[in-house]
Formats: sequence, structure tokens, C-alpha cells
Amino acid sequence: MNSRSPYLRPPEELGSILEGEPSYRVDQLREWLYEHPVLRPDDMTNLPTELRESIEGSLWPFEVEMEQSSDNGTTRKWLFRAPDGAAIEAVLMGYPRRATLCISSQAGCALACTFCATGQFGFERHLEAGEIVAQVAYAKAFLAQIGMPDVPDRLTNVVFMGMGEPLANYERVRESLRRMVEIMGMSARSITVSTVGIVPGIRRLAAEPWQVNLAVSLHAADDELRSSLVPINKRYPIAELEQAARDYFEEKGRRISIEWTMMDGVNDTDDQARKLADIANRIRAHVNLIALNPTPLSDERPSTRLHIEEFAGVLESHGVNVTVRDTRGRDIDAACGQLRVMSGNQR
Ligand code: SAH
Repeated sequence: MNSRSPYLRPPEELGSILEGEPSYRVDQLREWLYEHPVLRPDDMTNLPTELRESIEGSLWPFEVEMEQSSDNGTTRKWLFRAPDGAAIEAVLMGYPRRATLCISSQAGCALACTFCATGQFGFERHLEAGEIVAQVAYAKAFLAQIGMPDVPDRLTNVVFMGMGEPLANYERVRESLRRMVEIMGMSARSITVSTVGIVPGIRRLAAEPWQVNLAVSLHAADDELRSSLVPINKRYPIAELEQAARDYFEEKGRRISIEWTMMDGVNDTDDQARKLADIANRIRAHVNLIALNPTPLSDERPSTRLHIEEFAGVLESHGVNVTVRDTRGRDIDAACGQLRVMSGNQR
């Protein structure tokens, strides 16, 4: 075994790093990496000591640089650091009957949505498939071995809502999905890919064999406003995005969700609510409203609670299913849109 993390190799090629070992050993290691992940090689109880020792120090493709907890121990944020300095953040949110992990697909992000902290700090690099799936394996190991109070000991959901745009890193995200579904044994329906609206990526994902959920970060219901918040809208305007989302729904039979970050005086008007209701009804989407989490380089403020309720009311009066999402981990900068660490010390 060399010093590269086994997560950085396809699970089918683990044999090449266990030279001379019988094939059942390779199967055992694969199970420890994907089906029953553990925090330390020493916990891989059926592997011989020398083998465990050879993985010591290189099991994970990153180091745990920081671990923070909030919401009475039911939210945990990890800052993982890859050997080249790239920062990878993941947030685990525990509830009485589920545990949802929010993962990153890129270090930084190139799409520069005005209100998102990751976008404000620019793009660093794509994450490897192994770096993406290792975030999931780490959270699974954490839940099984350490756990959270009154939270299931297994990971029930994964959302690509951490740093980065998953559909701008398509091949690696695809490979991470393949490993989650086909090797880890997660249900594709428990995984959500969230996109700013990369239309060709939505179309490619629609053609994959897995029933992964799609979340579309819309935030504005006309092109003028949307282009001012989400620059990529100039390339993939709302009509095209809507068509791709509708086709995705028809192909997969999975309801799309529309993500809408509520910004005071910007996108929380009755006019936007009515236009959003039309879009949501046409593509039969569920709408998730979330109050903006303030970020360092933007002056936008969150909509008031009352305004959010009113906005939700307009949507409901037009027959749209809507959820007002609560915020987790705001005090540890773990909330939506707040993940932004880059290599070095840019905090
Ligand atoms: N690039 C993908 C996934 C990462 S962002 C996407 O855009 O969907 C995950 C979600 O957080 C998106 O819906 C995004 O719009 C939202 N978000 C970004 N910044 C936010 C902020 N400051 N407050 C609340 N939500 C935010």
C-alpha cells in the first residue's frame, strides 16, 4: 500500500494496491471503505494488523482540520484539508428520524452568485470523485461510531449543497454518485443534486440510470432579476432551465425542488411570488424558501419572517407546495451559502 488514500482509486481497482493479498481481502477492504466505513484503519477488525498499519495515516484523502458542532450537537461542520491545501467543507444535520449530509463538489466555485459566500471567494479546483465520496464515508463512520444525540446512527440523505457547482464538475460528481449508489448501497432517491441551472448538466444527469433528486436554485422568476443575482443565467436563461427541469421530472418521475433564497426587497415581492408560482406549477415543482444567510461581501439582508410567510402564502394560494426551510449551524458558518474557506487563511 502506498500513501495515497484508497478512496482516490475506483473501488474496482483496490486489488492493485493490495498486491499479493487474496481477493477476499480486497472485498473486505472495499466493505470497510464503502459499506461500513470506520474512522480509523484500526477499526477494520477483520484485516490483519500489518494491512491496517499500512493504511494508517492515508485512509482519508484529507485531514480533519476543524470540527465544529452546534444546535445541541445535532449539527456538525467539518473542514477537511487535502494535501495540496484545498479546503473541503461538509455539514451533517441530524434530526429525530434522519441524518442529512451536505457535501462539497468543488473547492470554491466559479459561478459568482452575488449572495453566496463560496462564489464571492472564487474557484480553486474540482474535487476528485474520491474526495466527494469520502465526505459521505466519513459522515457514515461518524454516525456509526460517535453519533449525535437522538439522531439515527446511519446516514439517510446526501445533498450536494455545500461548496461548488456539482454539474460544473460532471464526470467526477457522476463517479461519486455511482459509488454512493452502486457500491455504498445508498438509495439514489435519498441523494439530491442541487444546481444553479447548468442546462447541459441537467440533461446528462437525466440520462443516468439513477433516480437522483434535482434541486434547482432559481432565486428569481424573470431573467433580468435572475441574471443580476446568478450570472450564469445569461448563458442558460429561465425558459431553457425550466424546460430542462420539466424534462428531468418527466424522465425520472421525481419531483424537482426549486430553491429560493429570500432577500429583503430583492426577490420577496408579490410579483416574484406570482411568477414563481407559474413556473412551479408548469414543472410541478416543490418550492423551498430559505432566509438569506448574510455573507461578507454582499449587503443583501434576509427577508423578514412575516414577509417569508406572506410570500409562502401567495405560492400556496396558487396551489404550490412550499416549505420554509430552517437554518442550521449559522453560528458556526455552516449555514447555506456560508461555506467559503479556501486554502491559506482567507477567513
Ligand atoms: N451550486 C449549487 C449547490 C451549492 S449552493 C447550487 O447553486 O444549487 C446550495 C444552496 O444554497 C443553493 O440553493 C444556493 O442558492 C443556496 N445559497 C447560497 N448562498 C446562500 C445564502 N447566503 N443564504 C442562503 N442560501 C444560500
